[in-house]
Amino acid sequence: MKVTVLVGGVGGARFLSGVRELLGATPFPAHQDDPGTGGDHEITAIVNVGDDAWMHGVRICPDLDTCMYTLGGGIDTERGWGRVDETWHAKEELAAYGADPDWFGLGDRDLATHLIRTQMLDAGYRLSDVTAALCKRWQPGVRLLPATDDRHETHVIVAKPDGEDGERVAIHFQEWWVRHRAQIPTFGFAQVGSDDTVAAPGVVDAITGADVVLLAPSNPVVSIGAIVSVPGIRAALRTTAAPVVGISPVIDNRPLRGMADECLSVLGVETSAEAIAEHYGARSGNGILDGWLIADGDSASVDSIAIGSAPLLMTDPATTADMVRAACALVGVATPGGDA
Ligand code: GDP
Ligand code: CA
Repeated sequence: MKVTVLVGGVGGARFLSGVRELLGATPFPAHQDDPGTGGDHEITAIVNVGDDAWMHGVRICPDLDTCMYTLGGGIDTERGWGRVDETWHAKEELAAYGADPDWFGLGDRDLATHLIRTQMLDAGYRLSDVTAALCKRWQPGVRLLPATDDRHETHVIVAKPDGEDGERVAIHFQEWWVRHRAQIPTFGFAQVGSDDTVAAPGVVDAITGADVVLLAPSNPVVSIGAIVSVPGIRAALRTTAAPVVGISPVIDNRPLRGMADECLSVLGVETSAEAIAEHYGARSGNGILDGWLIADGDSASVDSIAIGSAPLLMTDPATTADMVRAACALVGVATPGGDA
């Protein structure tokens, strides 16, 4: 069985742990040019790169690293991002020099990942190549593909600090979230990067060649939205023969963790299971969903989208595997050991 999942960081990584629990690890090598054979199932994650940024001369890919560390057993589970047993000496030393930015959490162990990545990018490798190389160490058991190898950063349009009335600037998403905690007047999001951005190698094929495509319960705007905005990805989702099922990131009409509501409200979308489904839209209309799995107790009714419900708290991989099974069953896709 081939399962392709669109993911952001923390919510996406946890969801992938459930997919891997259900299907077993995709055997290494897990590179887009060599999908790996020998296992019964293939799990491909299409990972958001909208959060990626240059900091202190190194390239940071927060969502790719969160997925890689989580699946590879290196994540700090308390924080949800970065390395376990982290130390912060480099960050302290940079601060002692007065280096900007001083608000970004750059851990010593994490820094090694960024140094390798930056060296490889400087040498001309694509981000997808770099990711495959890093995954040789971490063995995530899931093929991790950046949505694009091109720069496709999410920027946020905000009121210019100390500016005239109505003056606006675009700042990097990381600065908006980490530095300002999203607590400044905000007017919209924009992807910044190359004019010729294309999906990374393997991404469109993973969508069109899947048995089922799942949207993790990741942030609908800055994770899933940023992926879907990569030219070619939305079209692939709309035309694939595979059913596309989203999993709601809200329980009790509240996001679990992260800033889904801050982002949704900027777009004028209510933080509710129904409003997010309407935002994604039905594939039979102009949207991308065939099915939408919501938390037990929430409600949603959207024309032409099959709605199901299940417990959606991702407490551990086994519980999350049940969510994956329920999402597949909603569109009639049988999973191993299941009764869909
Ligand atoms: P980020 O890139 O680290 O912000 O992570 P994602 O975009 O992948 O996921 C963030 C979203 O995950 C948040 O909007 C949360 O609502 C959602 N989330 C976190 N934990 C859970 C959970 O246990 N269940 C569900 N359904 N959603 C969750
Ligand atoms: Ca993220």
